[in-house]
Amino acid sequence: MRHVAVLGATGSIGASALDVIARHPNRLRASVLAAGSNVDALLALCARHRPDHAVVADARSHAALRDGLQALGLATKAHAGAEALDALAAEGGSDTVVAAIVGAAGLDSTLAAARAGKRLLLANKESLVLAGELLMAEAAQAGADIVPIDSEHNAIFQCLHGGGAHGGVQRIALTASGGPFRGRTRADLARVTPEQAVAHPKWSMGPKISVDSATLMNKGLELIEAHHLFGLTGDRLDVLVHPQSLVHALVSFVDGSMLAQLGLPDMRTALAVGLGWPQRLASGVDALDLLAQGRLEFEPPDLDTFPCLRLAREAMDAGGTAPAVLNAANEVAVSAFLQGRIGFLSVPALVEQTLAALPSCPAESLAMLRDVDARARRHAESAIASGAFA
Ligand code: NDP
Ligand code: MG
Repeated sequence: MRHVAVLGATGSIGASALDVIARHPNRLRASVLAAGSNVDALLALCARHRPDHAVVADARSHAALRDGLQALGLATKAHAGAEALDALAAEGGSDTVVAAIVGAAGLDSTLAAARAGKRLLLANKESLVLAGELLMAEAAQAGADIVPIDSEHNAIFQCLHGGGAHGGVQRIALTASGGPFRGRTRADLARVTPEQAVAHPKWSMGPKISVDSATLMNKGLELIEAHHLFGLTGDRLDVLVHPQSLVHALVSFVDGSMLAQLGLPDMRTALAVGLGWPQRLASGVDALDLLAQGRLEFEPPDLDTFPCLRLAREAMDAGGTAPAVLNAANEVAVSAFLQGRIGFLSVPALVEQTLAALPSCPAESLAMLRDVDARARRHAESAIASGAFA
């Protein structure tokens, strides 16, 4: 029996993880469920999955969670606050942690799970972008196995480990759907709304990553993620726009072989790989019918219309603190865009300006990365407040 802590249980990835877990009651059990502040949604999940522990990151919600669990007659223990969240990522009787909190807010709990040597099902890509070297080193030291959940990286994981291949990797290509604005011009993008940006053509996801997909920043974050997970430099990492979203990634080997992973765009496949590996578990996702799907197309990304992908590649190549600045400025910009405070084209502009204002230096410690993250957030916030990015 695998005991699973689902961090970000109330989100889109959390729902997919719990769906797969509930399909295998004799092999998988949700022992810890964690949310940010949505106590009602967390209580509904507790009633269904009966975990040992429930934790809400917002410390003010402790009483609401405790009283709600009591009213439901559940034995689940209530916890609240960031420290309780980190402690339950490391303890709480789980051997497996699904890291599915959105944004840099997920860093500490992801690190805690890695340090505790858990099997880490890593969806929270921002923690790798912000502190990838540290996180990978901590995981290696504690013997924590990381199974990437981001669909492209999960595809690469399957190509590397599923086909009996060891070494000889020459290049990796991540595919991108192109998002809701593929084929549009910059002039079109000046007027797009948050509602249009989150309406992803292929994947159903939380709002932040949906906007990242529309700007192509998501693919840029994924390049940095791939660099840390698979140890390849940027010149060996490619991006292919593939509008059908059926091929998730491709790995080229020195012998001329190329392995790809295909499947319908549904995150339950990646989560089932992480939860069952090295065995395959049913995920509820239908098999792919290639005849019914028709053509598979590939094209290069349009870096002029979607500069976020270029900015992320530059930050990856610069290394040091640049990816942390990129990530922080992007989180501020996406949240301002979703609130209607800035336009869509201001997202890359604000990220670019913040990167220019905080030049990269070597990332020597976690404390330094946290400090850079905070400074980049302050810089981006005050640039928005100054009205320069309407
Ligand atoms: P959602 O917005 O759907 O869910 C976010 C989750 O994080 C919620 O459970 C939320 O809790 C929780 N949360 C938010 N802030 C905090 C906080 N400060 N402390 C603790 N918990 C918090 O996001 P997604 O599920 O779409 O994405 C989660 C992660 O997975 C992201 O890093 C994303 O990039 C990555 N990912 C997602 C994919 C997808 O298909 N959705 C695909 C690949 C990667 P509450 O409900 O209480 O606010
Ligand atoms: Mg992805």
